[in-house]
Amino acid sequence: TDWADYDQLDEEFDEDSEAGGGRPVLAVVGRPNVGKSTLVNRLLGSRQAVVKDTPGVTRDRVSYDAVWSGRAFSVVDTGGWDPDADGMYASVTSQAEMAMSTADAILFVVDANVGVSGTDEAAARVLRRSKRPVIVVANKVDSQGAEAGTAELWSLGLGEPHPVSALHGRGSGDLLDEVLRVLPDTPRERFGGAAGPRRVALVGKPNVGKSSMLNRLVGEQRAVVDEVAGTTVDPVDSLVELDDEVWRFVDTAGLRKRVKTADGTEYYASLRTKAAIEAAEVAIVLIDGSNPLTEQDLRIISMVIEAGRALVIAYNKWDMVDDERRRSLEKEIDRDLVRVRWAERVNVSALTGRAVAKLAPALRGALESWDQRVSTGQINSWLSDIVAAHPPPVRGGKQPKIMFATQAHSRPPTLVLFSSGFLEAGYRRFLERKFREAFGFTGSPVRVVVRVRE
Ligand code: GDP
Ligand code: GDP
Repeated sequence: TDWADYDQLDEEFDEDSEAGGGRPVLAVVGRPNVGKSTLVNRLLGSRQAVVKDTPGVTRDRVSYDAVWSGRAFSVVDTGGWDPDADGMYASVTSQAEMAMSTADAILFVVDANVGVSGTDEAAARVLRRSKRPVIVVANKVDSQGAEAGTAELWSLGLGEPHPVSALHGRGSGDLLDEVLRVLPDTPRERFGGAAGPRRVALVGKPNVGKSSMLNRLVGEQRAVVDEVAGTTVDPVDSLVELDDEVWRFVDTAGLRKRVKTADGTEYYASLRTKAAIEAAEVAIVLIDGSNPLTEQDLRIISMVIEAGRALVIAYNKWDMVDDERRRSLEKEIDRDLVRVRWAERVNVSALTGRAVAKLAPALRGALESWDQRVSTGQINSWLSDIVAAHPPPVRGGKQPKIMFATQAHSRPPTLVLFSSGFLEAGYRRFLERKFREAFGFTGSPVRVVVRVRE
C-alpha cells in the first residue's frame, strides 16, 4: 500500500543517501550459469540473498549493499540473460555496455571448468574498451588442482584471472581485497557536476522513434561534438549540442547500432531503459502520439519517477496526429497522466523536425526544478499557513501535529515533515500539491517523507 511505500522511502533516506546511492557500484557480468548469483551471495556474506526464479536466470537487475573491511559499496547482478542462444550474443554485449555505463568497477565471471566461449570473447571485446577497472573471475575453481585451468583466461586480454569458488568461498577474501583496491572511494560522477554536460536518457517503448529522434537531434546540432573540455565521454554516450548547450545522451550505443534480436528483446529493452534512466539526470520519455497510450508507456514513466529523475514527456509522430486523435489524446492525458501533471509535455515529430527545438528548454526547466532547493525558513512559513488552513485529519481520536519541515535533498527534491503522528496518504499528496503550487518544481518528481516524533 501507499503506507509501505513511504515507510520504505523513509528508511532509504535515513542513510542520507543521495539519489543514485552515494556508494561506488560493482557490477557482475557473465554468461548464465557461470555462478554470478552464487558469487554475489558470497560477496554479500549471506545477509541478503539473491533470489532466482529459474537456475541461471536472475529476474531483474538488482542492487545490493555490501561491506568489506569497513568499506561500503553496492553490488549489481546484471542478470536478465536472454536464455535463447541466438539472443545471447546481443545480450552479453548489452549487459557489458550497461555495466560500463553504470558501474565503477566490473567483475567479469567466467566458468573455469568450461573455459573461454565465443560469448565470453564477445563480452571481453566490449569490456576492453571500458574505462572502468575490470576483474576477471575464474569461478568454480573448487580445489587447488583446478587452478591450472585458469591460465587460459589470460587470453581475454583483461589481465590476471582470479580463481575462486563462489560455492565454497575459496579465494573470495582475496577477490574482495582486489575489488576494494580497484573500486574508487566515491562513485564516479553520475550527475555531471558543475562542469560536465547534463545527462539525458532518451527512452520509450520500441518503435516510438527513439533512434529517429536521436538522429534528428544529432542532425540539428550546429557542430559535431566530439569532446568537451575536461570531460571524458563514455563510448556508450553521445554528446549533442542543442540550443547552445552540450548535452550528454546516455547509453545511446544500442540506439545507434540498432541492436535488435528477434526474440526476448522486450525484457532486455526494459533493462536497458532502467540502466539509461539510472545513469541520467533527466529522461525524455518518448510516446507514439499517433497511437493510444499503453501500459508500457506508463511503466516507463513510473520507472523515471521511481528512480527520482527529472522528466519530460514527448509525444512523437505528431505529424500523424489528426483532429480526432487529438481529442482522444486529451482524454487519455486527463485519465492516465494525472500522476505526472507536473511534467512538461511537448508534441514533436522526429520525421519533420516539428517542435524538437522545444526539447532543450523543457530539459533545462525540468533540471532546474530537480536541482531546486527551498530554504527551511520559506518552507516553514508556507507550512504554518497551510496547516492552519487545512489541519491534518484526525486519526484514532488524535490530531497529528506537524512540527517542522525541511527540504532534506534536491535531485529529486525531498520534503521531510516531522510530525507527532502518521499523516494519511491523501494528506501527504495534498501537501505535495501545495508545495508544488508554492515553489514550482515543474518537471521533477517531489518526494514527501514523514518522520514521526513522539
Ligand atoms: P548465474 O546464472 O551466473 O547467476 O549462476 P548461478 O549462481 O545460478 O550458478 C549456476 C550453477 O553453478 C549453480 O548450480 C551453482 O550452484 C553452481 N556454482 C556456482 N558457483 C560454483 C562454484 O564455485 N563451484 C561449483 N562447483 N559450482 C558452482
Ligand atoms: P525506436 O525503436 O524507438 O528507436 O523507433 P525508430 O526510430 O526505429 O522508429 C520506428 C518507426 O517510426 C520508423 O519507421 C520511423 O521512421 C517511424 N518514425 C519515427 N519518428 C516518426 C515521426 O515523428 N513521424 C512519423 N510519421 N514516423 C516516425
